[in-house]
Amino acid sequence: MTRQAPKQMEPDSAVYKTLLESTKAIPWKIDWATMKFAYVGPQIEALLGWAPESWVSVEDWAMRIHAEDREGVVNFCVAQSKAGVDHEADYRAITRDGEHVWIRDVVHVVRKPDGEVEALIGFMFDITERKKNEARLAELQKELEALSYRDGLTNVANRRMFDSALEVEWANAVRNRTPLSVIMLDIDYFKQYNDHYGHIRGDACLKQIAGALGAAATRTRDFFARYGGEEFVLILPETDRASGLKVAQRCRKLVLKEKIPHEKSQVDSVVTISLGMATIVPSRQDQHIDFMETVDKRLYMAKQRGRNCIVAED
Ligand code: GH3
Ligand code: MG
Ligand code: MG
Repeated sequence: MTRQAPKQMEPDSAVYKTLLESTKAIPWKIDWATMKFAYVGPQIEALLGWAPESWVSVEDWAMRIHAEDREGVVNFCVAQSKAGVDHEADYRAITRDGEHVWIRDVVHVVRKPDGEVEALIGFMFDITERKKNEARLAELQKELEALSYRDGLTNVANRRMFDSALEVEWANAVRNRTPLSVIMLDIDYFKQYNDHYGHIRGDACLKQIAGALGAAATRTRDFFARYGGEEFVLILPETDRASGLKVAQRCRKLVLKEKIPHEKSQVDSVVTISLGMATIVPSRQDQHIDFMETVDKRLYMAKQRGRNCIVAED
């Protein structure tokens, strides 16, 4: 079988027209002097519902841009065109039935030999799917951010969130010269709990304790987080030592009230906690790291004093 060599494609406008009108991208041309459409691909009707004949001037184009995008897009495109710069713009085009479609308009500025702008030609691309994906990705990003501040097991704020919250409340306390109290607490003999009841029950116990302690602090700015392992922490803004101590006592009682059996505990037959607390009206010279060390030291003292108790002073 013989094959004919393909004919050189001639600059036949009918061929170009067919090519242009069979692509998904919608071609168009605007005459710069009159600001009227010299051409728009018939595909536009399938996408937006507006017949090609209804695209007469740039005003028709502008009026079919979503009101929120219109001014910015028109100003940008006019400025770029005047400067003779090729450009592209994303916007929502209004369809004939009142919906909208995301469009990316890619524009080439055609100049006369003397450099003056003669026409604008371009392609409109339907980027609705891409925009939807972008929006979904942004949502996922947000969810991820929210998750990265929450402890996966107990669902309360995590250490990272605690660090941010402490920074904020510390700065507030310095600025307003108000007392800030922090309570750190740790489950007693939790290693023995795990060893005896297993890790799964250990996890369930942590969840239950976190749930119970969530009710200990009642003010809107009080902040509760899992500090790590079986340690939890409470930030109590604008709270003096006496009020902080009351919250600590409430924490201890709330855990006791759960009555979680702990056969291997050496202080009680149920799960208990030890707590350390400190209060400060921080000055600019004070460091929250030092303050947290004091809180931590007092928690350690509570352990040494026999556990299931609170230490709020050195
Ligand atoms: P103390 O009374 O002095 O606090 O003794 P403890 O046994 O509670 O202290 P220790 O620090 O020796 O043990 C803490 C245990 O907590 C060890 C670890 O296995 C357990 N733990 C930490 N995080 C988790 C967790 O997410 N799930 C479970 N099930 N156990 C955890
Ligand atoms: Mg412990
Ligand atoms: Mg511990």
